[in-house]
Amino acid sequence: MRGLMMDYPLTLPPLLERAQTLFGYREIVTRLPDQSLHRYTMANFVERAKRLAVALKKLGVEPGDRVGTLAWNHYQHLEAYFGIPCASGVLHTLNLRLHPDDITYIANHAGDRVILVDDTLLPLLEQCLGKLDAERIVVMSQGGGPREWPDGLLDYETLLADADPGSYEAPDPDENDAAAMCYTSGTTGMPKGVVYSHRSIMLHAMALAMSDLFAIRERTAYLPVVPMFHVNAWGTPFCCVMMGAKQVFPGPHLDAASLCDLLASEKVTITAGVPTIWLAILEHLDSDPERYDLSEIELMLVGGAAAPPTMIQGFDERHGLNVVHAWGMTETSPLGSVSYVSPKHDDLSREEKFVLRAKQGRMSPLVEVRGQARDGLIPWDGETVGELEVRGPWVASSYYDSEQGADSFTEDGWFRTGDIVSIDADGYIRIEDRAKDVIKSGGEWISSIALENALMGHPDVAEAAVIAIAHPKWIERPLAVIVLSGDKSPTLAEVRSHLEPHFAAWWLPDALEVVDEIPRTSTGKFKKSVLRDRFADYQLPDED
Ligand code: ADP
Repeated sequence: MRGLMMDYPLTLPPLLERAQTLFGYREIVTRLPDQSLHRYTMANFVERAKRLAVALKKLGVEPGDRVGTLAWNHYQHLEAYFGIPCASGVLHTLNLRLHPDDITYIANHAGDRVILVDDTLLPLLEQCLGKLDAERIVVMSQGGGPREWPDGLLDYETLLADADPGSYEAPDPDENDAAAMCYTSGTTGMPKGVVYSHRSIMLHAMALAMSDLFAIRERTAYLPVVPMFHVNAWGTPFCCVMMGAKQVFPGPHLDAASLCDLLASEKVTITAGVPTIWLAILEHLDSDPERYDLSEIELMLVGGAAAPPTMIQGFDERHGLNVVHAWGMTETSPLGSVSYVSPKHDDLSREEKFVLRAKQGRMSPLVEVRGQARDGLIPWDGETVGELEVRGPWVASSYYDSEQGADSFTEDGWFRTGDIVSIDADGYIRIEDRAKDVIKSGGEWISSIALENALMGHPDVAEAAVIAIAHPKWIERPLAVIVLSGDKSPTLAEVRSHLEPHFAAWWLPDALEVVDEIPRTSTGKFKKSVLRDRFADYQLPDED
């Protein structure tokens, strides 16, 4: 017997109508490049997104055409998030932290026909001009009216002013049609294109609204520090429009003082960022704990890289702020798992709860996980490690036009994440390492992440990355690369005795190097490949 319910397609265009009807009053705030604040309402946003859809069609955008964006987090970028799919196009966010050659490669590989670019990022895009296949470049300048641009560049505000929102006709795409795409940031290889469908975005947005996930609702005031140019700012702009949340965009100002100021003045309740950003904010708050009133914040989501437990604890104990750890990838839209303390664990001690919260958490509804080791699936015992594999309605089933990534997908329909994990009996996942970062010492694995987290708990260490160094006997051994928090430099022996209570003796680093900074990827993660190159010929001290 078949169910007799409607086969109602899950697509983005109806969200615009919903936002207009129910949430027209809701504010959208942006910090502009000159630090001033731009404010308008959801009703203004919907009208302008429709104008953009009309304007793109006038420019010749056909169903399925890719429209690139090279932009910070702001209201016009939000308009593009909806205006492009509502013109039946595909929103393709370009990562502004990449080298111009990479931006050119990615825009051309995706087949971007039009690119929307911030005026402040024109110097970057100009380095790609001449090599880009895109036919039209549209410049967005925030806060002002229409402007003139040289060299055939079009002006975003002029296009919108000339478009009649009354002539907007909501498209009726198939729910499996592409709505957006994003390239992996290439931390572990060439960037590969992930193509999100209307359906995957809608289901993912609904999941974000769930209370044990991101809990976004109409009363939420949400500030994404995570960039709109990477994994759609974790899909949250779609969710905020769906639920009617207030949105607060930081523009290009991502320093701790500007962010704290905005969090306080706009009474933000939920915010999301990578550990690097929260570490800087923690330091800023520690230096002057009374300066900001952040009492409205319910949730500070952290993900994209492992959050050190000391950071979660520091926010909690010194500032009363609730940091929640989440795991995800470009290929998983990105929401995979979130780490809340289950009522089952209410009896754990305070310390034990921090340890649990620093795990990557349990899978979202509709996402399934398993750990694959060489000899089969791992047991959920919290100890055995294997590669995390996932499947679900917002997980990629293949890469766009790429042979290279084919081995990331198993024959039985799972995505291989490249993350090495253990899973405990309650389903809490712990990322032990990325497959490429794990240190293989004498046939056994040492988790670089575990050592880094513990090192970052040492008072003299601000940041730490642990990498594998070639070793004649053990094949690989760990080298700890640290950035000092002050003037005092700990010795290797001091560092080892700090780690000793928590690790087997053979896990302890064989050497220590102090550097001015740890190189980072375009999304703020440690770029260990650069360190590996730098220390490729490193000679480990002789063993006693
Ligand atoms: P890239 O693969 O280029 O770094 P992504 O942004 O897709 O781009 O990164 C996904 C990866 O980031 C995951 O596979 C994982 O290794 C890492 N990651 C994401 N969230 C966490 C987390 N909470 N803890 C540890 N690692 C994380």
